[in-house]
Amino acid sequence: MAFNIPETGQERVVVVGAGFAGLKLARSLVKSKYQIVLIDRNNYHQFQPLFYQVAMAGLEPSSISFPLRKIFQRANNVSIRYAEIERIDLIEKRVYADLGYLNFDKLVICTGATTNFFGNKVLEDLTYPMKSIGEALDIRNAILTDYERALSIRDFDERQELIDIVVVGGGATGVEVAGALAEMKKYILPKDYRELPYGEVDIYLIHAGAELLPGMSAQASANSLKYLQELGVQVILQKRVQRFDGDFVYTDDGNKIRCGKVIWAAGIVCPVISGVSDELLGRGKRLKVNRQLQLINYPDIFAIGDAAIVLDDPDYPDGHPQVAQTAIQMAKVLGRNLKTNSKSNWKIFTYRDLGSMATIGRNRAVVDLPSLRLRGFIAWVVWLVVHLYSLLGVRNKVIVFLNWVWNYFTYDQSLRLIIRPRKTRRPEDT
Ligand SMILES: Cc1cc2nc3c(=O)[nH]c(=O)nc-3n(C[C@H](O)[C@H](O)[C@H](O)COP(=O)(O)OP(=O)(O)OC[C@H]3O[C@@H](n4cnc5c(N)ncnc54)[C@H](O)[C@@H]3O)c2cc1C
Repeated sequence: MAFNIPETGQERVVVVGAGFAGLKLARSLVKSKYQIVLIDRNNYHQFQPLFYQVAMAGLEPSSISFPLRKIFQRANNVSIRYAEIERIDLIEKRVYADLGYLNFDKLVICTGATTNFFGNKVLEDLTYPMKSIGEALDIRNAILTDYERALSIRDFDERQELIDIVVVGGGATGVEVAGALAEMKKYILPKDYRELPYGEVDIYLIHAGAELLPGMSAQASANSLKYLQELGVQVILQKRVQRFDGDFVYTDDGNKIRCGKVIWAAGIVCPVISGVSDELLGRGKRLKVNRQLQLINYPDIFAIGDAAIVLDDPDYPDGHPQVAQTAIQMAKVLGRNLKTNSKSNWKIFTYRDLGSMATIGRNRAVVDLPSLRLRGFIAWVVWLVVHLYSLLGVRNKVIVFLNWVWNYFTYDQSLRLIIRPRKTRRPEDT
């Protein structure tokens, strides 16, 4: 059965994924000559850089997500479908989902990346990833539930298992989560959980590399380590997590840490949609594209954002960084090209590095700009401004700003709710 999409006679561009790349592209094609069908398995766009604040109960999920239908309310050439694409027929030019199939003239794959557990099924089942708002909420619920349960536990070891947290991966996500957890321990636990010996709470950050924040400057790595240690985080470098059994985390130097909760931020990999053969996949299972972002051998199929790896950019032989700026810049180039009538005028994608940053609790951040390195309070202000500016929607910007101001002055937040359904009436929706 085919998707119910109006036949308008326009050339149809199907965009799969409404993250930074897909959303930017679809918006750039509003009022163009194309019929755009934007498909996502969520009915909202999510702002991943602030997931960790949802996980730490600092922000509500709704303040960092935005309903797709609202964005395109007045875009007559854009249809939105809430569906997960399960298969692509590259030859017949069709995508398949539970809704049925949909023919396309052009397809843009912007499905992003997912958490990499490096094939370890046990880690996948037992640890907490943070690649969606749902997963961030799951972490929030787990942390709060464990603190609640720990209040009734007399045995020290059993209590440790509930209150200690191991974060794996010293990239921006791991560093930001560890910093936020340390602040939670310092400012929230003594107030909310007065009977809990919060001095017993240990936050560990385990990183396989020698320096935190790979990809950033040596100063940024050193400063982030210093800030985390000042906050009391136990940073363990050059160790790999080999095993986790739900009670202990085992590292490759033979040590083990008693802990029941592991947040896994150790890497990403692209999910492969059925119908895409292995020879189209590059490093990290990213789709191989040329500099005009066309999938190799398929000129009407494109991939952008985290899902794509540009093969012939000598400045980035291993692919461009999988960050929001890459996704946005790719979408801009592709949008411009698709609106240009003659293919001979198509531009090639050239990445412009606008810098990177990470925050470690309040008042501390590290920022690497192309010609400037910042740290401490100034870097933290820059981090706040950039993230606020990048958020979609005036309402979201205002709510996040007010939350941050409230949090900054009161050292407190009133979002620490454990919300999960007791049962679902429609099990097929879970
Ligand atoms: C916790 C975290 C923090 C981050 N912090 C930063 C940061 O500070 N700065 C920065 O630049 N980058 C950051 N990133 C990376 C940044 O978010 C990504 O590089 C960016 O989101 C990539 O955009 P994208 O559009 O390619 O993919 P995404 O934004 O991941 O979007 C992919 C979309 O595709 C949809 N989708 C996937 N598969 C299917 C399917 N089969 N069918 C239908 N829909 C599908 C998903 O629902 C999603 O909406 C962070 C990422 C994470 C997880």
